[in-house]
Amino acid sequence: MSEETIFSLILDNKIPCHKIYEDNLVLAFLDINPFSPGHTLVIPKEKASTLDKLSDDSAAAIGRVLPRISNAILKVVGAKEFNIIQNNGINAFQTVFHVHFHIIPKFDDGRGLQYPFKSSPINHDEATIMADRLSKLLSN
Ligand code: AMP
Repeated sequence: MSEETIFSLILDNKIPCHKIYEDNLVLAFLDINPFSPGHTLVIPKEKASTLDKLSDDSAAAIGRVLPRISNAILKVVGAKEFNIIQNNGINAFQTVFHVHFHIIPKFDDGRGLQYPFKSSPINHDEATIMADRLSKLLSN
């Protein structure tokens, strides 16, 4: 169970939001500080602070509706492309500690998520060990 957040206040109807979708496990509403028009947050009703703590049922419910909500947003804002980002932890840019998925339309004129991320080539020796450990953990 996570602490009370601004999203729990929205879920409890204590503060308003621009709601676009709701079912028994999921709520989606427009982000108050959008990267681009149509920027939407999809959240579980379950009060989990980060994705790794979310139940399978809530995760499945979000996964089930993400494509449909994305499709509706694209139609309404007239974009063809979009990003989904999902931040977990302060250093990973999370500011509201209630799980949420951002759906961010990307427009031809550049509006939307900019790309600040850096990567470097995989080390295959380390990757072999890591993949082995992960697959063992996940097979339980
Ligand atoms: P994150 O940085 O991934 O934790 O994103 C939190 C998001 O919540 C930000 O994009 C905020 O603009 C958004 N946000 C914060 N408060 C509200 C609110 N009351 N209604 C809608 N979106 C909000």
